[in-house]
Amino acid sequence: MTEPTPGETHPEGLGTRLNWLRAAVLGANDGIVSTAGLVVGVAGATTERSALLTAGLAGLLAGSMSMAVGEYVSVSTQRDSEKAALAAERRELRERPEAELDELTGLLAERGLTWDVAREAAEQLTERDALRAHARVELGIDPDELTNPWHAAAASFLAFTAGALLPLLAIVCPPAPARLWVTVVSVLAALTLTGWWSARLGSAPARPAVVRVVGGGAVAMAVTYAAGSLLGAFGV
Ligand SMILES: [Zn+2]
Repeated sequence: MTEPTPGETHPEGLGTRLNWLRAAVLGANDGIVSTAGLVVGVAGATTERSALLTAGLAGLLAGSMSMAVGEYVSVSTQRDSEKAALAAERRELRERPEAELDELTGLLAERGLTWDVAREAAEQLTERDALRAHARVELGIDPDELTNPWHAAAASFLAFTAGALLPLLAIVCPPAPARLWVTVVSVLAALTLTGWWSARLGSAPARPAVVRVVGGGAVAMAVTYAAGSLLGAFGV
């Protein structure tokens, strides 16, 4: 039996880390686009810095908390169902170990092993850590790597906040005549970066991803600016 060469192995948890990174980039992207749309819309209606700051800050907090709550709920639900599946598996392993060995053998054979080899592999896996083997092969989850809903919520909160800070600062800091263009240019530049990065993380071609995300951001700002300008013009 030969050991795999180091270059060919994938470090444990690489997929999980990539998922986290991708979620962080998407969260930042969300923060950039929604806050940019909000502050540009308000800038269409008023030149008052305090109104821009209030709108931007409220958008940042509302968005980041809504992301965090959504993430908390969805990860909690997923974790509950994974825990329930693991508990059921644990019970089955205790109550009918022979049937579970047959089941594991069958699942391994389905993946292309002959029955004898699958049996041998199933016996070894069962001996080492039966629950983990069933969790991985049968349920496709790693019992040691269940996502913590609090971590997921905090990560979404931070990612959205980091993204939202950019348009907020860009609209509030520069002098009034420059603020709109500073915001538009820095937002589109940042979206170029997040679009490129998320494509890289998913091994997808970068250009279409960048075009989609920059185009989406530009449309969002154009629409809210038009709406804000209309409201401002009618003195609402
Ligand atoms: Zn099982």
